Amino acid sequence: IIKIEHLRKDFGSRCVLKDINFTVKPKEVVCIIGSSGSGKSTLLRCINLLERPTSGEIFYHDKDITTGKMSLAKLRSKVGMVFQQFNLFNNLTVLENCVIGQMKVLKRSKKNSEDMAMKFLTKVGMEKFINAKPSQISGGQKQRVAIARALAMEPEVLLFDEPTSALDPEMVGEVLKVMKDLAQSGLTMLVVTHEMGFAQEVSDRVVFMDQGVIVEDDKPEVIFNNPQHKRTQEFLSRML
Ligand code: ATP
Ligand code: MG
Repeated sequence: IIKIEHLRKDFGSRCVLKDINFTVKPKEVVCIIGSSGSGKSTLLRCINLLERPTSGEIFYHDKDITTGKMSLAKLRSKVGMVFQQFNLFNNLTVLENCVIGQMKVLKRSKKNSEDMAMKFLTKVGMEKFINAKPSQISGGQKQRVAIARALAMEPEVLLFDEPTSALDPEMVGEVLKVMKDLAQSGLTMLVVTHEMGFAQEVSDRVVFMDQGVIVEDDKPEVIFNNPQHKRTQEFLSRML
């Protein structure tokens, strides 16, 4: 569903992604791990063109999205993103947050958008909070709303950039639970995370990045029990 070939990203004279190659198949859950500054967020941001790749190709269903021919709004409705800092609109209610994108980007009616929003807010257990403002709910609840908002666009792929890193420890579990349910429902997911337990338990593949390159890309059993590269071993021994 996504194929990346020879992706490179420079910021000025700094090369932060070098010759990245990988594919994500439909329904696959791929976790990306690696130390701070290794390029994980930049990679996700390139996949929905929040960053412009310097060179290389990114195919979404065999179409190269880097040519600029596909509209950004269309791409981002198909390849959704959930951020560390939630990125909810603070002046809108929970329900309005989940409706606005559907009406603006997908041109759905208000009624249809609200029905969809309710469906996914219920799925993440936030249906009782539809009239609350983001400031009135907890971090874990905000992130569940952000996930419902992304799902209401009916994406084919959902990108998560450290979705639990900004949360108090007691709220991490509720968000991981929602993500685990999504993974099991067959959503294609690409998840940057420091939650090694989640990566081990839920992912089909784990990609380890270091200094802008993919060092190792393998099944979680191999990455966690028998990593092939010294740098992966060193990273994991620091994490666990
Ligand atoms: P973290 O785990 O801390 O989130 P990361 O793996 O997500 O790290 P990136 O945010 O992708 O790393 O950053 C990779 C490198 O690119 C870093 O050295 C960072 O300073 C640099 N970088 C990221 N965004 C920009 C930008 N807009 N302009 C210049 N440099 C940037
Ligand atoms: Mg990051």
